[in-house]
Order: sequence, then C-alpha cells, then structure tokens
Amino acid sequence: MEKNLLSIQNLSKCFPAENGNTLEALDSIDLNLQDGEFACIIGPSGSGKSTLLRILADVLEPTSGTIQYAEKKPITKAIVFQNSNLLPWYTVIQNIALPLQIQGIPKIMAIQQAQAWVEKIGLQGFENEWPQNLSGGMAQRVAIARALIQKPQLLLLDEPFGALDALTREQMSIELLGTWEQIHTTVLMVTHSISEAVLLADRVLVFGHRPGCIVNSLEIQFDRPRNPDLRDTAEFTQ
Ligand code: ADP
Ligand code: MG
Repeated sequence: MEKNLLSIQNLSKCFPAENGNTLEALDSIDLNLQDGEFACIIGPSGSGKSTLLRILADVLEPTSGTIQYAEKKPITKAIVFQNSNLLPWYTVIQNIALPLQIQGIPKIMAIQQAQAWVEKIGLQGFENEWPQNLSGGMAQRVAIARALIQKPQLLLLDEPFGALDALTREQMSIELLGTWEQIHTTVLMVTHSISEAVLLADRVLVFGHRPGCIVNSLEIQFDRPRNPDLRDTAEFTQ
C-alpha cells in the first residue's frame, strides 16, 4: 500500500513587496507526497514553484501552514538547482564526496563512495577535473550525484536541466529516470518541459497564473514497467 512521506497543509508564503504591499507567493497549498513517487511541478514563471521547493528544503520559512512527516520525524533532503553550484576549488570527485565528509565519514570512504557515483553518472576519467572545465550537462550530473550520495528521502530538483540544450536535456532526463529506478527515492521536480514531466513523473502538479496555487494535478498511469526505452509508447491519462 502506498505510504505518505509528507503532508503539506494550508501552506502560505508572503514576501514583502514594493510600496509596503505583500506578495503572496504560495496561497494555502495542500499537497501529499507518497513515499517513492516521482512528482513534477509545472507552471508559469513566478507562480511559486521555487518557493515551495525552498520551503521543503528548509532554506525558507513558511508564513503559515504545516508540513507533517509520516514518521513524525524530520526526513533527509537534498536540493539541486538549475545552476549546479559546484565548489570551484574542489574537483569532481571532491564535490561528490563533500556531503559525506560533512557527515563525518572518513575521507577515504567518502572518496570510495564518490567514485561509485562517478561511474554511475558516466564521468570516469573526469574525477580530478575542475568544475569550470565541465560542460553544463556534466556539471549537472555531478550536482545530482552530490545530492544522491546522501541517500536523501526527498530529492528536490528545481529546473535541474533548465540551462541545458534540448538534446542534453532529453539525455539527462532518461539518465535520471534510470538512476531513480535504482534508488526509488521520493522526487519533487520543477520543470518547464511538459514532455519531461510526462516522461518522468507519476504525477504532475500544475501551478496556475495566479501565483501560489496548484490548479490541477494529473496522475500519470503507466500500463507497463517504467522502462525508458519504451517511453515513446507511454500512455497517460488525466
Ligand atoms: P517560480 O519558481 O514559479 O518562477 P518563485 O517561487 O521563484 O516562482 O517566486 C514566486 C513569487 O515570489 C515571484 O513573484 C517572486 O518574485 C517572489 N519572490 C520569490 N522569492 C522572493 C524573495 N526572496 N523576496 C521577495 N519576493 C520573492
Ligand atoms: Mg523557479
């Protein structure tokens, strides 16, 4: 049976705006995330998508509302942004190993695990490369590996492929699906691309033009194993 990972109730976020007004970036959002589901958010610019992710990542406080975790204790989370935010003075492998080292795992073990991730993302040979020498796609692979090495219960992706060209985007989406099928962590991903959402998501949440509200929620039902090679035959229903 499906299990809730978290439940968001009545979540609102206001920002101070010009001339003393307030801007309602999120307006009473209710949302449940199932354990292990892949949910995508689409919606216009400025509709509050990033605000929701930043609140879930604990980098922003909501103005009101609650987030309840099913196990009644905080869960582990990692977030990836459009810009990979790699540390420029760390190599590829050092960037991936960093979260483990911050957790206190000895360097040699952290590097060992990071090496396994380097292979999973197909960057063998680039271990000791500096971030500025990577293509945009490679840098995002490193950012995703650096998030996943932490084995987060919730992976938050904020337009992770937004800065990449169409071909690289598609390739990265298929790779992400392959990785997710191995680890089955819960993912909440913001994307501008409807085709990306349909390829990846179990459920697509649509934010509306009026900022801060989910206007639609589409369940995508797959009548087949989620094999990326068969994606062209994907059927989905509302
Ligand atoms: P999206 O990610 O959907 O493009 P955002 O969540 O980034 O939208 O922003 C929603 C609204 O909140 C926008 O109008 C934006 O300008 C505003 N906003 C976001 N962050 C801040 C902030 N730190 N201070 C003031 N306004 C903000
Ligand atoms: Mg955004």
